[in-house]
Amino acid sequence: MIPITTFAGRKVAVFGLGKSGLLSANALMQGGADVVVWDDNEKSLNEAKAAGLPTQHLAEIDWSEIAALVLAPGVPLTHPTPHWTVQLAHKHNVEVIGDIELFCRERAKVEAEQGIHCPVIAITGTNGKSTTTALITHLIGHAGRDAQMGGNIGVPVLALEPFAPGRVYILEVSSYQIDLAPSLHATVGILTNVTEDHLDRHGTMENYAAIKALLPARVEAGGTAVIGVDDRWTREAASRIERAGKKVVRVSVEAPLRDGYYAEGSRIVGSVAGKAHPVAQLAGIGSLRGAHNAQNAACAVATCVALGIDLATIQKGLVSFPGLAHRMQQVGKKKTAAGAILYVNDSKATNADSAAKALGSFQDIFWIAGGKPKTGGIVSLVEFFPRIAKAYLIGEAAADFAKTLEGKVPCEIVGVMSAAIDAATRDAEAAGRKDAVVLLSPACASFDQYPNFEVRGKAFSDLVLAVPGVERI
Ligand code: ADP
Repeated sequence: MIPITTFAGRKVAVFGLGKSGLLSANALMQGGADVVVWDDNEKSLNEAKAAGLPTQHLAEIDWSEIAALVLAPGVPLTHPTPHWTVQLAHKHNVEVIGDIELFCRERAKVEAEQGIHCPVIAITGTNGKSTTTALITHLIGHAGRDAQMGGNIGVPVLALEPFAPGRVYILEVSSYQIDLAPSLHATVGILTNVTEDHLDRHGTMENYAAIKALLPARVEAGGTAVIGVDDRWTREAASRIERAGKKVVRVSVEAPLRDGYYAEGSRIVGSVAGKAHPVAQLAGIGSLRGAHNAQNAACAVATCVALGIDLATIQKGLVSFPGLAHRMQQVGKKKTAAGAILYVNDSKATNADSAAKALGSFQDIFWIAGGKPKTGGIVSLVEFFPRIAKAYLIGEAAADFAKTLEGKVPCEIVGVMSAAIDAATRDAEAAGRKDAVVLLSPACASFDQYPNFEVRGKAFSDLVLAVPGVERI
C-alpha cells in the first residue's frame, strides 16, 4: 500500500467504499489523516465498519472541517446530476478528488522531498485501455524494470508498492478517473482512440472527448503524449496538445504518418520527418491479432521507445505477451488429422462491435454466441458471416440470432456452453480444415446464465481444457 501523507492532520471524507475507496481511507489514515467514510450501500458500509473505519453519514458531518472529498470513480460527478455528496462538497468549497489524485500528489511530494522520480505511464481511450496497459507493463517488466500496474484495470493504484528509485507505474485511467485527478502529470500519457461511449456520464461527445484529451495534455515537463490519431477527436487533440508545446507522438493503423508510428501489414513502422524504418513485427503473435491490437501495440512500442527501451528488447517482449484473459485469449489447441483447432475465449465481447473485432481476426470460425441480447442483436455483423463455418447459439438471444443467421450461416441452438463446445469441436474436426477456430465471442451480456463475463469466460476455458486432446496454451 502507498501511505498518503499529503492530508496528514486534516480531515478527509471518503464516499464509495468499494476496493479503491477502502484503500483510500486506509492509505489516508496510515499517512496521518483523520477520515470519515460513507456509502449508500449498506453491505459496503458494514464491511467498512467491520474493518474499523470511522463511518458517519456525510449529510451530518461538519463540512467546514473537511479538506477534501475522495470519491469512488463510479459515483456521478456531473452527469446526469452531481451526487449528493458532490453537491455538499461544492456548497462548502471542498475539493472533490479520486484515489489517482492522492497517488499523484504523494508522488510529487516524494519527488520534492526525497528526489525520487518515478515515471508514470497513464493510458486512456474508449477502447484498448486494458490491453495497452497490460502490454506496456509486460514490455517494461521484460526490459528488467520494476513495473507496477494499477488503476482501472482492477488493482487500485494505492494498493501498489510505495515510490522507490527505478519503479515505474503503469495506470489505466477511465474518463471518470481523469475528472477526479487534475494533478495527473504522466511521464507518458496515452490516448488510444475516442468513439461514442459513456455519454450518459459525460453529456456530449465534445465533453467526453475533451476529458479524455486532458490526460495526454497534462503530461509532465519533458514528458510525451502518445495519441492514436485514427478518429477526428484524437486528431484534433494531438494538434491542440502539440500547439500547447508538448511533445506528441502520433500512432495510426489506417494511414502512414510523416512523423510517428503506423501499421503496415503486420509491421509497425516508425517515421521521422518522412524517413520510415520498421520497428516491430506482429506476425505470428496470437495475443495481438487484429488491427485494433496493432493500434494498442503501436502505442505500447511508442511508449517504450520514449522510455529508452531498445527495439530488440521490445520485439522479444511483444512475442511473449500472453494477452489478457477473456479478450481474444487463446486457451487451448487440439491437433486434428487436417491441422489444429484453436480455442479462443473472447467473453469480454458483450456487444456486436466487440465481437466484430474477433470475427474479423480469424477465418474458418466455429462461433459460440448468445447470452442476454443487446439492442440491434448481430445484424451489424453480416459482413463477417462468410468467415463463420457454423454458429452455436446459447442463452436468451439464441432464437433471435438464429433468425438473423438463417439462410446465411449454418447454425444450431445448443442452449448452454458445454453443448456448444462439444458440437463445435465435433464439427471443426469433421470439417477437416487446417486452421479451425472455436471462438466464444458472444455479442451479448452474460447475465442470463452467468454473474459476469469473467465467470462465463472461465466456464468456457475450463470446459475447453477438459476436452480430450486439448493442450493448454
Ligand atoms: P478497454 O480496457 O478500453 O475496455 P480492452 O483492452 O479491455 O479495452 O479491450 C476490450 C475489447 O475492446 C476487446 O476485446 C476488443 O474487442 C476491443 N478493442 C481492444 N483494443 C481496441 C482498439 N485499440 N480499438 C478498438 N477496439 C479495441
